[in-house]
Amino acid sequence: MLQPLGIPIPGYLIQTFDNHNVMVDSGLPHEFINNPPGPLGPLQLQVEMREEDHIVSRLASIGLKPEDINYLVSTHFDIDHAGNHELFVNAEVVAQLEHYEAAIAGHARSQRAREFWNADHLSYHLIEGDVTLLPGVELIKTSGHVIGHQSVLVRLPNTGPVLLTIDAVPTAGMMDGDTRMIMDNDEDEAATRASTRKLAEIAAREGVRLIIHGHDAEQWPTLKHSPEFYD
Ligand SMILES: [Zn+2]
Repeated sequence: MLQPLGIPIPGYLIQTFDNHNVMVDSGLPHEFINNPPGPLGPLQLQVEMREEDHIVSRLASIGLKPEDINYLVSTHFDIDHAGNHELFVNAEVVAQLEHYEAAIAGHARSQRAREFWNADHLSYHLIEGDVTLLPGVELIKTSGHVIGHQSVLVRLPNTGPVLLTIDAVPTAGMMDGDTRMIMDNDEDEAATRASTRKLAEIAAREGVRLIIHGHDAEQWPTLKHSPEFYD
């Protein structure tokens, strides 16, 4: 959480019927538990993180370890999304080529978490544009917040299509591409608006019944959190 506003920093686990474990993002690094960084993000809020909030604890609470994850979908390399990538030793790390290449070349904001996303032992699967990762798991390129950001559309049997906007649309109040607020850390305003429109169009076209936003303090208490799940 970022406090005092209670802004969540989530990751998402998707489990397929053929036993693939797909993790979307890896959250803040363990070192922040006892050693919180200074104010974080465009609102300059404080990180509040307990041992049980860390991704290893969250996975353990449902009987999983990072080694059990087959795919780590990396939406982007900001530290609140990529702070534990190095733990996913058996996963294919799936990122947009454009994002990865910019980060490797020194794109400034990605360097803070570089030791995690650029660990030597990680195996990357770099994609370009909108790609079906597995049946029912679609990756949607949504540049703007950062170059090569990606969002995720998951088709669940009972819940129906669920859209994880991630930071392309961090709160429900920003779903209108024309009027939405642009945050200080959205690096390209026009692209951010275009990606917001793209996600709104997908939500309408696909009949999405649940749009989960990346950092929405109001939405967070209304969502199921692990060990609860959407089926
Ligand atoms: Zn974020």
